[in-house]
Amino acid sequence: MKTSETLISTLREVPAEAVIASHQLMLRAGLIRKLGNGLFTYLPFGLRSFRKVENIIREEMDAIGALEIKPSVVVPGELWRESGRWDTMGAGMLRIKNRVDQELVVSPTAEEAVTALIRDELSSYKQLPIVAYQINTKYRDEIRPRYGVMRGREFMMKDAYSFHADAESLDKTYLAMEKAYKRIFKRLGLSVIPVSADSGAMGGSGSEEFMVESPIGDDTLILCPKCGYAANTEKAACAPDEVQDKDGKPQVAATLPIEKVPCPGVETIAQMETFFKMPAEQFIKVLIYRVCNSELDLRTAPGGNTFKRDAETGGAPHYPEAFFAVAIRGDLDVNEAKLAAVLKASEVELACEDDVIRFSGAPHGFVGPVGLTKLPLLADESVMVQCEDGSYTVRVHDTVTGGGQADVDNLHVEPVRDFTPFMTADVRTVVAGDLCPCCGAEFYSKKGNELGHIFKLGYKYTKSMNVTYLDENGKQQVPTMGCYGIGVDRSLASIIEEHHDGNGIVWPMSAAPYQVVIVPVKYEGTMKEIADSLYAELRQAGIEVLLDDRNERPGVKFKDMDLIGIPVRIVVGEKNLPNVELKLRSAADSDLVPAAEAAGKAAAIVRAELAALNG
Ligand code: ATP
Ligand code: MG
Repeated sequence: MKTSETLISTLREVPAEAVIASHQLMLRAGLIRKLGNGLFTYLPFGLRSFRKVENIIREEMDAIGALEIKPSVVVPGELWRESGRWDTMGAGMLRIKNRVDQELVVSPTAEEAVTALIRDELSSYKQLPIVAYQINTKYRDEIRPRYGVMRGREFMMKDAYSFHADAESLDKTYLAMEKAYKRIFKRLGLSVIPVSADSGAMGGSGSEEFMVESPIGDDTLILCPKCGYAANTEKAACAPDEVQDKDGKPQVAATLPIEKVPCPGVETIAQMETFFKMPAEQFIKVLIYRVCNSELDLRTAPGGNTFKRDAETGGAPHYPEAFFAVAIRGDLDVNEAKLAAVLKASEVELACEDDVIRFSGAPHGFVGPVGLTKLPLLADESVMVQCEDGSYTVRVHDTVTGGGQADVDNLHVEPVRDFTPFMTADVRTVVAGDLCPCCGAEFYSKKGNELGHIFKLGYKYTKSMNVTYLDENGKQQVPTMGCYGIGVDRSLASIIEEHHDGNGIVWPMSAAPYQVVIVPVKYEGTMKEIADSLYAELRQAGIEVLLDDRNERPGVKFKDMDLIGIPVRIVVGEKNLPNVELKLRSAADSDLVPAAEAAGKAAAIVRAELAALNG
């Protein structure tokens, strides 16, 4: 390609709206332009890199036997009603109506579309396992699209779905996917950290995320320096820690009865520490949560029969709205993703003040665990753990809690003696400094961005959408399922995050829009002749080569090509002839090589770099 025949739209200034390197550089190098909030157009150079990322993903999916399909992006809403997600997906899902008022969804993900396909095509166990994938447009009405294509509203995702007769077969595909993902990210020059992950609204268990470290990362990774434990904070667990009383001694069970202490204005944990002269580790705080679409059975829980249980709209019976009290040690925070997972809910949020008073009798800040009758209480494992025989291991003793009425706290509250919860679970937010549950070492943490996700879904969709097949004995069975996503745009942006310098992008060979650029100092006379012949030779050798034939000053052309980040540059200048300059974008210095050898050398560099990435 000659630059005069394509669109080079580089910008010298950093666009004000872009705060991260990849967003700035994608705009400055003319790879993308903004069309609307969270909506982008890829320009020719950007699209070339985009297609390379896409193709590497495609090659690795094909290599493990996944079959490419292409469902429509717009999907009948009816399928989402069948799975139950019409009600649970929330405002992130774009719903539209056509001229005959049919409800349609612009795919945010495609479990429903692919499950519906397999339902029609699958009849016998002989067809299993089936692994199907697409690389297709997704739309999510993200509240805050940001960082360019890193978090857009419309983006491209590779999403694969697998169907299996049994858990072993699912395990096999899951492991093959994990390997394929590692190969994909290696080929793209991306350093990823695989972490164990929450499976969120998708449901199911057994899930891993592939993260890249990033200071603007939306996720927090909890990492163990000793045994390699790595988890998203939405999933991370920790070993129980010893807590002490105000004298630094192990806490002992309360012997005194509960004492009501008037304490107007003492609302926060910090205020309580001062007022009671006790450490936060000896308080129990109780938070009231509004819980959406919980699939737990609450019929025997306190207040359970006041919540509406809905089994009409497909999917498992669930509570469109329920409320829970959550008790946790005073110095800790509730992790809402862990809480939602434990409650099998699509979403949890802190209840509004009216609901807090309605359910607990006290305003926020004075809610306690004692005497709650209108809603179920979940105790975090920092407070107590229910053992298999129904007894409890208590982890905090002789505690201070809200008094269950305004301006009163309770002193000497003892778990079990004074209250028992409906359930206990681990819902605390694990932070750096907490202890690894596997080896006891202290965690550290990093910010990261999710590039890909693999998870075992189990029967969630195949059951709710009635997928069956006949097994060897002619008996009807339901297949189990896995799903596997990678964001194409986000992977592309992450490559730039990892590979750039002060002058622009430094593409790994696998994702560069062109592999080699020839820059004649002036496109005329002998320089033109040599540039043209190098161009022809490289094209002949199958190298993706750009010839910068623009009538610009050499400095302008060098700046542009550095910004765009073409890995190999050949400069043809009068004063060096019969030699030309060969320079790698990643190196500071250039080499002089005879013009007759330059194409061969450049081609060898390209092949060696690709081989190293693919190896
Ligand atoms: P996040 O937590 O970042 O919103 P997610 O958990 O919603 O991600 P998945 O549903 O697992 O993501 O989607 C699979 C992949 O799609 C992600 O790993 C990511 O690479 C990509 N992706 C998700 N949302 C966006 C978005 N708004 N813009 C660009 N890529 C996205
Ligand atoms: Mg998301």
